Amino acid sequence: MEPKPDISFENTAIAFAYKSDAQLRKANFIFSLVNHPWVSFLATGFMKFAFKTRLPIEGIIKKTAFGHFCGGESIEESEGVIQLLGKYHVGTILDYSVEGEKSEEGFDDTMEEILQNIEKAHHSEHIPFCVFKTTGLASAELLEKINSKQTLTEEETKAFRRAKERVDRICKKGHAYGVPILIDAEETWIQDPIDKMADEMMARYNEEKAIVFNTYQMYRTDSLDNLYHDFADAVKGNYHVGAKLVRGAYMEKERERAEKHNYPSPIYPDKPATDKAFNDALEFCVAHIDHVSVMCGSHNEVSNALLAERMAEKNLSPKDPHIWFAQLYGMSDNISFNLAKGGYNVVKYVPYGPVRAVMPYLLRRAQENTSVAGQSSRELRLIRSELQRRKRSSRQRQ
Ligand SMILES: Cc1cc2nc3c(=O)[nH]c(=O)nc-3n(C[C@H](O)[C@H](O)[C@H](O)COP(=O)(O)OP(=O)(O)OC[C@H]3O[C@@H](n4cnc5c(N)ncnc54)[C@H](O)[C@@H]3O)c2cc1C
Repeated sequence: MEPKPDISFENTAIAFAYKSDAQLRKANFIFSLVNHPWVSFLATGFMKFAFKTRLPIEGIIKKTAFGHFCGGESIEESEGVIQLLGKYHVGTILDYSVEGEKSEEGFDDTMEEILQNIEKAHHSEHIPFCVFKTTGLASAELLEKINSKQTLTEEETKAFRRAKERVDRICKKGHAYGVPILIDAEETWIQDPIDKMADEMMARYNEEKAIVFNTYQMYRTDSLDNLYHDFADAVKGNYHVGAKLVRGAYMEKERERAEKHNYPSPIYPDKPATDKAFNDALEFCVAHIDHVSVMCGSHNEVSNALLAERMAEKNLSPKDPHIWFAQLYGMSDNISFNLAKGGYNVVKYVPYGPVRAVMPYLLRRAQENTSVAGQSSRELRLIRSELQRRKRSSRQRQ
């Protein structure tokens, strides 16, 4: 029988070793606040109102939620978090989280920021990947038009060419510096041109190893086929597939739009179906690890444990360079830090950017951690359990 990996996600001492008592109490306060649906609703409503009316609440946000979920307002300000995570063998993916950019100038600025990230990663042992969202480099309206196969005006054709050039400059620099690049996945109605660009980039830059990683949203009913198809193309073209697997972040939006426009929802009808597709994709990647590099972008304990098990069954070292585990900074530390302690390759997305620009990201985290059916969020339970453990052990020491 193959050895079972010795991984537990229950060890909160390991999970929160990087947090002082005061930081943990602050985390308890934040997650307790968002845990109550009504308090969460009022707090997020107030935050939205305060930002719209320019009330000066940046300071307090920065000291609370921003401090918990983000690295800082700039690359330089994120250095403390990069070093702290690095101390526990957890890598950082700097995630420039300025959303809603719409002008060509703004797209160029975002590209420059990502190029700086690559520069930073090149000189840092703690930043193994860089990432971008295509809607930071091209207009969502334009991508939607291409996705729905509408004819572009001359101006739009030029704009799309510029967008492709931005994507290519980023991937080219990643390739030159040996820094892998993740391309985030977005909504289905803009995703086809993103996938197409990602495929082109993989064929161009993944000859020796996976430099460009596309993202596969496994809640989509067509994602497994897309993965198989990309794999077949890569084998034929003699390059590597870089696959970041996620379940998908836009389920409600996708379903609403499908209903409104009367087309079948592109999302599986239930969670078990998404879970099965996600786990099948993981198994497929491990089975074809000679040709695929995979990142498990998930807070799901079963999927992360499954990946570790499949690695053990294949006698792959936890440090196999083709396999990565990734979570968001400020969440699922029980998974990240216990895996890192077990010697696995672990990274955290660390969002950064001006407080105001990162607000939509923070509001999504609040929503995600609001109690469902009166149950505390998993994060809150873990934080409270660690606070209790510390109290008990300090009593025992006295
Ligand atoms: C490192 C990292 C990178 C990420 N990058 C991206 C990205 O590029 N693009 C993106 O879209 N998301 C991204 N995400 C978010 C991700 O898609 C998920 O929304 C999030 O991680 C929750 O899924 P889970 O696997 O962690 O956990 P779980 O809690 O096990 O899964 C929740 C997810 O399951 C799916 N789901 C829930 N209910 C149902 C249902 N009734 N029917 C069908 N499916 C259901 C949804 O996708 C939901 O988000 C990323 C997440 C991480 C950690």
